[in-house]
Amino acid sequence: MSEPNSSSPALPLSAEIVAIGTELTTGEKLDTNSQWLSLALADLGIPVRFHTTIGDDLKTNVDVLRLAVERADVVIVSGGLGPTLDDLTREALAQLQAVPLVLHPESLEAIESYFRKRGRPMPERNRVQAMFPETAAPLPNPVGTAPGIWMTVARAGREACQIAALPGVPSELYRMFRDQVAPRLPQTGTIIRRKRIHSFGLGEAQVDEVLKDVTARGRDPEVGITAHQATITLRINAPGQSVEECERKIAETSRIIEERLGEYIFGTEDDELEHAVLRLLAAGRKTLAVVESGTKGALAARLADLDDGTHFRQGITLPEQQWIAHEPTRTPLAPAKTEELARWIRATTGADFALAVSPYRVPPTLSADPEIAYVVLDGGGTIVTERVLISGNPEIQQARVVKTALDLLRRRLR
Ligand code: ATP
Ligand code: MG
Repeated sequence: MSEPNSSSPALPLSAEIVAIGTELTTGEKLDTNSQWLSLALADLGIPVRFHTTIGDDLKTNVDVLRLAVERADVVIVSGGLGPTLDDLTREALAQLQAVPLVLHPESLEAIESYFRKRGRPMPERNRVQAMFPETAAPLPNPVGTAPGIWMTVARAGREACQIAALPGVPSELYRMFRDQVAPRLPQTGTIIRRKRIHSFGLGEAQVDEVLKDVTARGRDPEVGITAHQATITLRINAPGQSVEECERKIAETSRIIEERLGEYIFGTEDDELEHAVLRLLAAGRKTLAVVESGTKGALAARLADLDDGTHFRQGITLPEQQWIAHEPTRTPLAPAKTEELARWIRATTGADFALAVSPYRVPPTLSADPEIAYVVLDGGGTIVTERVLISGNPEIQQARVVKTALDLLRRRLR
């Protein structure tokens, strides 16, 4: 196979991930290892060009490895190192180089000792996990039985290709990549550090408008925009020669984004709006109670998941009929009733703040007429009511309403 650019020595390194497992190609399991490995390799300055996912079949494995060695300088193989007959990675790597599998006594000893410590004899099957292609080196696995495999494949007229095969169990793969593989990979001189900044309340297009020059292609560092359930995230990718250089670039760009988006920003990295709200409640030693209908408990669930009751006092879910029948007014008029219920739950729980969400229906299609949801914040003395237009992708409406409620309180608290 001829690669158009293979003669150019200036080409940067690139990687391919080969995820092996019939449970992946049948759709029974999601290949999360490729995602994790791609980010980890990018951190080391090695971009991933290909993800290949294949079933447990020897010939396919060998074919795919041959292709990967041609088109990538670093190949990370995930899975197929277990002791069972369908675990074929060892055999495939041996065939790739046309060498036999040979026993590695230290690995065998490590596997035997693993079983001894658990008071069990080693099943004969596991012996195969101490077999390696003659030209390969074992990568010790401190957290499982399957050692990994490190192999260098020579290529005519080019740098050799480095292959690392790791067990498919995600926790083992992560640990082994960090401890065994990353230090062995070719140094690129460039590393990448990342930061995610989350905003709520502006649409993707509005954010893009405000940050046009920052999200321009080819900017250093690069900033991408992604939207997930009405949260708009700015992703900064900063390449550099050192961690300090990357972090300096990230700090400068973060400052610009913060200046432009201001109060729309609620957090970074794994933060969700509920984290931001609970942090602010904790800082002010305040408490919250919620009563909701259309969101069916989703608002309370997010808060209850993170708080032991110190700041989130109570959540009540009322189906639409009970919402309307709730004393004292029995009015079906959503805004008035929602305000009334916000006051009611704040009074009955003694919380400092209350959020209430009215019943609403989600239009099943984009062309159906929009519905209205009312979200009310009772801050003791002040009542704020927000009208949320329910239209657009039906799948994300619940998250939108829940986030609107949380954001109402976040703005009040900051
Ligand atoms: P072991 O030596 O522990 O048996 P292995 O290399 O044989 O590891 P597999 O048997 O293929 O790995 O998979 C072990 C577990 O890891 C399974 O639960 C499988 O679903 C999961 N797994 C395998 N590959 C992936 C992947 N790419 N992403 C996420 N999970 C995976
Ligand atoms: Mg498998």
